[in-house]
Amino acid sequence: SLADRLGSVFKKLRGKGKISEADLKEAMKEVKRALLEADVNFKVVKDFINGVSEKALGQNVLESLTPGQQVIKIVNDELCALMGKETAKLDFSRKITVIMMVGLQGAGKTTSSAKIGGFLKKQGKRPILVAADVYRPAAKKQLKVVGEQLGVPVFSIDESTDAVFIAKKALEHASQNANDVVIIDTAGRLHIDEELMEELKNIKSAVEPSEILLTVDAMTGQDAVNVAQSFNKQLDITGVVLTKLDGDTRGGAALSVKAVTGKPIKFAGMGEKLTDLEPFHPDRMASRILGMGDVLTLIDKAQQAFDERQAAELEKKIREQSFDLNDYLNQLGQIKKMGSMQDILSMMPGVNSKALSSAQIDEKKMGHIEAIIQAMTPAERQKPEIINSSRKQRIANGSGTTVQEVNLLLKQFVQMQKLMKQFSNPKKLKRGFGGLG
Ligand code: GDP
Ligand code: MG
Repeated sequence: SLADRLGSVFKKLRGKGKISEADLKEAMKEVKRALLEADVNFKVVKDFINGVSEKALGQNVLESLTPGQQVIKIVNDELCALMGKETAKLDFSRKITVIMMVGLQGAGKTTSSAKIGGFLKKQGKRPILVAADVYRPAAKKQLKVVGEQLGVPVFSIDESTDAVFIAKKALEHASQNANDVVIIDTAGRLHIDEELMEELKNIKSAVEPSEILLTVDAMTGQDAVNVAQSFNKQLDITGVVLTKLDGDTRGGAALSVKAVTGKPIKFAGMGEKLTDLEPFHPDRMASRILGMGDVLTLIDKAQQAFDERQAAELEKKIREQSFDLNDYLNQLGQIKKMGSMQDILSMMPGVNSKALSSAQIDEKKMGHIEAIIQAMTPAERQKPEIINSSRKQRIANGSGTTVQEVNLLLKQFVQMQKLMKQFSNPKKLKRGFGGLG
């Protein structure tokens, strides 16, 4: 996915103490490739890369202490800017807010009409939904079903097949019934055609909507952008509802739509349920695209927790092969400083609840390890090989564990020592401990 691709580019950057102009160029090349593969519009990608490179060089990122992080920040900021920086609001300036929903068939117009109705109702508005998709008999019924689920009334005229007439009547109905929002669900087609556009233009001039929201399916990638462009040209839309962002989308549509049409994404559809709608937040989308969740925060946390001086000491010990159980105990303390394992995991993208519950067990195990080491004498900690079976029993009793657990810890420690002997590059080692391991 786009997130994975960008994630690996940035991991490379982050690992570097200092990056050269060539590194930056190489990284930007990879970002470019990742964006193109995610179906981001070519011109958008080109402008984006130029913008980021210019900013990075302009801000003397290469001279700074954390160039990798700064480049990531610039990319993040530019992604936000591309999608409009701030959450776009609906225009409620008129007494009755008419929202006209347009889009291709299957994009999610009917679902989104209802979702927006439900969303605005929660905010204290009195919306009605209007069944103006006159071509498919099932469309009216679908709207009635979802409207009923949300407690949002649906206006329809059974005997009419004139969408313009229905829309006009709906407006009259709204003013008579003190409805302050009218959401018109229009018909779609599989492809853009003149007949469809003609009808939509007629509805538009009949009801003069405050908002014309184009519903586009995020899964359709580059096509979504083309669709947005032609609807915007014909109808001068006021915003976009990007649906199916819950699916395995490549994110390209979200990035290109605003840049290509100049119209903001106002809502994001996040699922089939009628509550799965959110105002679109460019900053959140940017961090989702960067695929890092709060991983950046997490990495900072880990780096802070790991005191540089201790790192140097540790390096020396490992080089001299004198890393003992006391040091191991220290390391556990360091890991704990980073926060609970569960906190850490919950910040990582894509971690499920199963992983979280197994982390809980690990934390318990970590507590046991600490208790076992603490039950040892200083001599035992320095030279674990002196721990015979009577000492093991004493340690198990003292730590409230079992001899088996003591054995396991000692075995793991021996393995760890072996592994450490293999480290010859102290830099590599430091990173191994300072990072997430
Ligand atoms: P319309 O033809 O544009 O009116 O599209 P519909 O509202 O009938 O939606 C088409 C299909 O997409 C339906 O099965 C919806 O449940 C589904 N759908 C709409 N929005 C979303 C969304 O945000 N996420 C997911 N997963 N499905 C959606
Ligand atoms: Mg529909």
